Amino acid sequence: MKNDQIAAIFTELADLLEIQEANPFRVRAYRSASRTISSTAESMQTLLEDGKDLTQFQGIGKDLARQIAEVIQTGQHEQLNELRNQVPQGVVDMLRIPGVGPKKVAIFFNQLKLESLEQLKAAAEAGELAALKGFGKKTEQGILENIDRAAEAGKRVSIAVARTAAEAVVADLLQLPEVQQVSVAGSCRRRKETCGDLDVLATASNPDAAMELLAGHQLVESVLMRGDTKMRVRLHSRLEMDLRVVPDESYGAAMQYFTGSKEHNVVVRQMAKDLGLKVNEYGVFRGDEQIAGATEEGVYEAVGLPWIPPELRENRWEFELAAAGELPRLIEVGDVKGDLHMHTTASDGAGSIVEMAEAAKARGLTYIAITDHSKRVSMANGLDEVRLRAHWEEIREARESITGIEVLCGIECDILEDATMDLPDDVLAEADWVIAVLHYGLQQPREQIMKRLMTAITNPHVNIIGHPTGRMVGKREGADIDMTTMLKAAADHGVMMEINAHFKRLDLDDIHAAAARDLGIPIVISTDSHSVNGFDVLQYGVDQARRAGLTKGDVANTKSWTQFQKLLKR
Ligand SMILES: [Zn+2]
Ligand SMILES: [Zn+2]
Repeated sequence: MKNDQIAAIFTELADLLEIQEANPFRVRAYRSASRTISSTAESMQTLLEDGKDLTQFQGIGKDLARQIAEVIQTGQHEQLNELRNQVPQGVVDMLRIPGVGPKKVAIFFNQLKLESLEQLKAAAEAGELAALKGFGKKTEQGILENIDRAAEAGKRVSIAVARTAAEAVVADLLQLPEVQQVSVAGSCRRRKETCGDLDVLATASNPDAAMELLAGHQLVESVLMRGDTKMRVRLHSRLEMDLRVVPDESYGAAMQYFTGSKEHNVVVRQMAKDLGLKVNEYGVFRGDEQIAGATEEGVYEAVGLPWIPPELRENRWEFELAAAGELPRLIEVGDVKGDLHMHTTASDGAGSIVEMAEAAKARGLTYIAITDHSKRVSMANGLDEVRLRAHWEEIREARESITGIEVLCGIECDILEDATMDLPDDVLAEADWVIAVLHYGLQQPREQIMKRLMTAITNPHVNIIGHPTGRMVGKREGADIDMTTMLKAAADHGVMMEINAHFKRLDLDDIHAAAARDLGIPIVISTDSHSVNGFDVLQYGVDQARRAGLTKGDVANTKSWTQFQKLLKR
């Protein structure tokens, strides 16, 4: 559990207690604990596992240390769960309105008995808020102006939506002669799975030209704020974007600062402090003198670090690697030579075998596996033994007309709820490439899920586990998997692990992909394409691999066909 997640629990606890008008000292204690946790560079979880005493930190007494341990061990806080039952979600949502904190929300909830944003809006429109003690017309007006946006806020969009929008705006800004440098920063630049908003930074001889372009951009729905060098817009996708035009000498420092993560930057700032320096969004300073800031490389160099790829800036392992001179050279999209997961019209795909192969070839790939669904996925027209054998025969025939790319006879075979494979062994034995997946019964208890995964891993014909957890980013939790046990078993049995590149899956995630790599498991990044355009998502899978710190050597489908072939024999 990351410090940020632990800190968020204590902030929520403080918010809910304050809404309940609990003892202000308790509220303050939780807030200060949250601040301490989120600003501590070392992982609380690691400290605890190493038997360290958390009361060494400011504001953390015995009782809080015990609560932090509870949160880390159970992922929950018992009292918080009770509070969540007592305070409706709609009341908590009110906290998203700018200028509205727990004290005001407490009054709305306790005095006016308002329980949702809609009810609050109605009360404001009726003038009930302005009539409250300590409130005025101005506060009421402010709430009315912001309440609709608050209803949308807090929703994150997928990296695909964020990255596509950011890249379009960046490319268009770069066309302006008045604009010199432009880049996206923030979580989008770090390629997180989801983004809450977008940060774009630029240098420009005329900031107004940049802002004018953004204001009229086809992706932009409205301008929310516009100053001399800073502007906030709302895109049609409901994502908000900040554009900051910064001086040349601060561009690198601003990039470093706004790319984050917060946890990463805390460490960078501390390293600077140890050297008697100060790092902020304007530059690196010794006293009043700016010694770096025009480039990010310069900022890192000033604090004694090599430039760290944005995808690694999470304060996980990047500082250790940098200190050892072992920052990896991360995999790139162009390194990928094969795609081992895709569908055709035989199941739920839109392209034929030949169309998919030609499209893959056009993208520079030299081998693919056609992996349509097995029969359990009846709504996707999954294949039974007879149809599958006929389908493979078609693939073999198609090979005659396709040159310059190897096409494997594969199958995406379901691991059934009763822990058997959806197709018999003698059929799987005829495949060139077998992906085993969980599609149904993801809610089963861990024991049964593990039994299913072990069935697949110990099956001699299975090459790889596809989208291992079955999670859907932001929508559905994955199955309850004992990841360590599963990965160890996969390593023992020579089974590979997929990073499913579709931005809705990105499964394995970065942390688990790194764990698989540590066990020497070959990782395959595949697109799960359902049409000739499906290959576009490859970049998101590669992003996830980069966040895991993977190099070309860690990813099996960067190998040439000749080399990859050797991995097919188990
Ligand atoms: Zn699937
Ligand atoms: Zn699939």
